[in-house]
Amino acid sequence: MALEAETQAIVEQFEFSDDDVNKAVKEFLRQMDEGLSKDGTSLSQIPTYVTSVPNGSEKGRYMAVDLGGTNFRVCSIKLNGDHTFSLTYNKVTIPKELMVAKTAQELFGFLALEIKKFLQEHHGEVFEHHLKRRLTVSSPDGFKDEPIFRMGFTFSFPVKQVGINKGTLIRWTKGFDIPDAVGKDVCALLQEEIDKLHLPVRVAALVNDTVGTLMARSYTSPGKYGSILGAIFGTGTNGAYIEKLSHLKKDLVGEYDNSTGQMVINTEWGSFDNQLNVLPSTKWDNALEEGSINPGFQMYEKRVSGMFLGEILRLTMLDLYNNPNVSFLKDENSSFNDLGSVTVIDRDSGLYKPWGVDTAIMSKAEADQGSELSVFRESLEKELKIYAAALEDAVAIKRIAHAIVRRAARLAAVAIGAIVIQTGKLNDPELLGEKIDIGVDGSLVEHYPGFRDMIKEALKITDGIGEVNAKRIEIGLTQDGSGVGAALIALVAARME
Ligand code: ADP
Repeated sequence: MALEAETQAIVEQFEFSDDDVNKAVKEFLRQMDEGLSKDGTSLSQIPTYVTSVPNGSEKGRYMAVDLGGTNFRVCSIKLNGDHTFSLTYNKVTIPKELMVAKTAQELFGFLALEIKKFLQEHHGEVFEHHLKRRLTVSSPDGFKDEPIFRMGFTFSFPVKQVGINKGTLIRWTKGFDIPDAVGKDVCALLQEEIDKLHLPVRVAALVNDTVGTLMARSYTSPGKYGSILGAIFGTGTNGAYIEKLSHLKKDLVGEYDNSTGQMVINTEWGSFDNQLNVLPSTKWDNALEEGSINPGFQMYEKRVSGMFLGEILRLTMLDLYNNPNVSFLKDENSSFNDLGSVTVIDRDSGLYKPWGVDTAIMSKAEADQGSELSVFRESLEKELKIYAAALEDAVAIKRIAHAIVRRAARLAAVAIGAIVIQTGKLNDPELLGEKIDIGVDGSLVEHYPGFRDMIKEALKITDGIGEVNAKRIEIGLTQDGSGVGAALIALVAARME
């Protein structure tokens, strides 16, 4: 009984009420507006220079490359013009020594070489044709009509974007350290190496992965109006949406097509409310904060995304385990108890190690609807080395995990709801009764059962949306944002040439 009462007490602390949701939506709208007016705010609201989204009728063959961290992906995409596409790709691991190379040229030269290999392997004819023309046409003008691949470049490091295919590297993260590249335009660095190899490829767009998600969803979604928001709930969380140019008060330094009157904005919402005006904080959030490498930053992300939810769960479990008034994961609960003494938790268990609990186990708990939770208890053994946990222990973990993810989903609804309101689409007379489409990607939203339903529940009670409008909001899974999405941005960029 004590365990049940303690579990309930923990669950209640993760409650994020309807009232809390509405307060947070108001604050999100305020911080969005602030970010559109000046730099250095909580929500960065970065202009992307992408001024239109596809509607599914786009056609053509494009390339996309993605430098994300460990891997480099090269692909070519054929857009069929009917919401469908086909995609071919190669993936290579970035050699460790190139991540810390002396010069940018070493890394970008390697990337260009991989692009060459890809072309030879998958587009041999285009490659050969291009080579032949190079040998026979002497004037550079002779290349004017040469078919080339326009390429979207997804580069997942902090950059200051100053044009659709221009952005300077602010700093390296994720184990990369090539000081020579910092402050340089990463598109130009790649183009230079591509040109050295005489490849028929033009770096047409610099792509953020959330923008890629928005574009990919817009292209594939069945509705005729495309998507208004692309959002990621994976290791981290972020969203990009379509904003009216008239709302954007910051100076735009690069060129862009202003005929559409709109621009995609990368919100960088992971840092929403770093001041904690409206975000909830339990003692476990505070403990996570103390152990984090960036205290005071990414406060929203730390309550919402895959990298952090497992750690919050771990901290609650440890508390329960160390509570002298509660029997939790102790020998006397074990189903093996009558066999004598058993160690329920291995000394090497992730429970004892910071960041030792992967959020994926929370999906396993939620998915297990059996009365014995045997699948989930098996995962506790396999993944956390918690052996023969009693049913009531597993039930307690499942309930707490659910509360943590439910809070995350309601916080996700805060960002989504605020952006839907901000775009004004619900009241657009042209869209009366039509669906408002949103694309989402990332393991958390993809694999946690009911994550999107919990978002929808919260949208129903959001002022300015309500039950009827919430039904119009379609939240669809999108994959290959960095492939087809990047290709689509290259297409938009080509229209501006
Ligand atoms: P990334 O965001 O790095 O591109 P993912 O979308 O796969 O990659 O997200 C990885 C994150 O999602 C990790 O933090 C991991 O803990 C979490 N995760 C992986 N699998 C699951 C799952 N089945 N359920 C919930 N979270 C998961």
